[in-house]
Amino acid sequence: MSYDDKNIFARILRGEIPCKKVFEDAHTLAFEDINPQAPVHVLVIPKGKYVSMTDFAEKASDAEIAALNRAVLKVVEAKGLMSSGYRVLTNAGANAHQEVPHLHLHVFGGRALGSMLVKR
Ligand code: 5GP
Repeated sequence: MSYDDKNIFARILRGEIPCKKVFEDAHTLAFEDINPQAPVHVLVIPKGKYVSMTDFAEKASDAEIAALNRAVLKVVEAKGLMSSGYRVLTNAGANAHQEVPHLHLHVFGGRALGSMLVKR
């Protein structure tokens, strides 16, 4: 899948749509999810144009990959999740119901998060 410059996170990165910023550095932006699924629900995205984790893992530089992981740590620190715990999740493609075609890591916390997947 090629990158669509009109996706909502590309528009946030260009400053066309506001976000509640939690952390930013040269390679990453972290901001509050507009429809939080937990008391803490932050999205961590690379500034580069990557559709999904697949695309990112294939094409991103080592610096970008390191920065995305370190940004998760910054969010965990900023939101006070270090001792209580948290969950990091990314959806890729149709089976995972990825809605926005720009890689994003969800960081959830602030309550007991239950089992990892809905059991069927
Ligand atoms: P996905 O299903 O692609 O993994 O998750 C997309 C996430 O983006 C959802 O949790 C949704 O609430 C969030 N989202 C969609 N549009 C916006 C927006 O305009 N601003 C913010 N902050 N989050 C958004």
